[in-house]
Order: sequence, then structure tokens, then C-alpha cells
Amino acid sequence: MKFTELYDELKSIYGELGKWWPGAREEIIVSAVLTQNTNWQNVEKALVNIRKYCQGDILQCLGKLSEQELSELIRPAGFFNIKAKRLKNLLQWIETYGYDLDKISTLDTENLRKELLSINGIGKETADSIILYAFEKPIFVVDAYTKRIVRRIFDIEYKEYDESRKLFEETFTKDVKLYQEFHGLIVEHAKALCRTKPLCEQCPIADCLYKSQKSKSGE
Ligand code: SF4
Repeated sequence: MKFTELYDELKSIYGELGKWWPGAREEIIVSAVLTQNTNWQNVEKALVNIRKYCQGDILQCLGKLSEQELSELIRPAGFFNIKAKRLKNLLQWIETYGYDLDKISTLDTENLRKELLSINGIGKETADSIILYAFEKPIFVVDAYTKRIVRRIFDIEYKEYDESRKLFEETFTKDVKLYQEFHGLIVEHAKALCRTKPLCEQCPIADCLYKSQKSKSGE
């Protein structure tokens, strides 16, 4: 399979996913931090706590809390002390814009990314998730699932995050909806079939280098 065919192939398996990351942009920003090293069910539990506690703008509401109070609220997401610290740093940055997300959105992608990456605890995957899903700017999110699937199907291994990101951005049109859905399809495929221990015999992707090498070696 050609690299350019991956999106269509996954879409034919999983159908239209649309934006995929749920919630309004305020929740997406918060959940991009909460989802680090945990599953979505735990994120959702923390979001339920936040929704219960905050009436109105959740960013302004959370911004008023101490780190200790934040960590209590987001406890179900795990690693709550470190995540509270990261969230606090992110909220302080948003506060410098008067919690005005439209104002932040006027930054171009490169400067927005630069500012996000200068916040302590915000790495590339988190920054790019916020840029793509909350601010709807075209940047490709690379996570461990993306690297795994690209490595297995095409035998392409990039060590550097930005190398993998550019592989997508240089191959596919810079299109927010396509990038959002494509990343979602990759996550769905990695969870359903291309797991740590892949379920190749159930996988409809015929043209996969990992699968063909495995069948050659008789595994
Ligand atoms: S055939 Fe196996 S390794 Fe290839 S994409 Fe499917 S599950 Fe992953």
C-alpha cells in the first residue's frame, strides 16, 4: 500500500469519524493535559468532576483554583499532582490572553506552537492536540499509535517527533478536518486491531509489511 492510501483504507474500515476528539474547545484544552498516560474513561471521570464544580467558563473557573484544589478535582485522571501543575501552567498562559480563546486563535500555527511548547509540562503531542482540535489549525498529531502503525505497515521508523509529523504534512493537504479525522482513525485502528500484540488475522489491511513478513517467517 502507498502511504497516500492509508487515510482512505482506514476510513473504509472505520467509516466517517468526523472531528473525533469530543467536547467544546475549553474541554479539549483541559483534556489534552488530562489524557497524558491514561485512558479516556479516566479523563471523562475527571471532566464530570470539572463540569459539576464549574458553572460557566471552565477555564476561568479552573484558573482560580490552587494546584491542590485542581489535583483533587482531576484525581480520576491519574498522575493528578503532576497534571494539576501542568494544567495550572497552561491556565496561567491562557489568563495572559484574558481567557479569550479567539484572541489566542489569531496567532499563526507556528507562533501558537512556540508559545504552547514554552509552557512547562506541555510537550509536542499535547501542544499539537490543542492546536488541531481546540484551535482547529492544520498540524498533524503524532502519538505512539501513529508511530506504531506507520512502522508496521510501511516499515518507516522516525525517532524524532517532528520528522513523523512532517511525513504526514508533506504527503497530505493541510486540511484541519482531514488531520483531525485521520488521527482519530489511527487511534481507533491501534486500539481495535493494531494493538501492542497485533490482531493481524482479523485486520482487513492486506498490504502491510509487518503482516507479510510475519507470514513469510511462518509465525
Ligand atoms: S495487519 Fe497487523 S500489523 Fe498490519 S496494520 Fe493490521 S493489525 Fe497492524
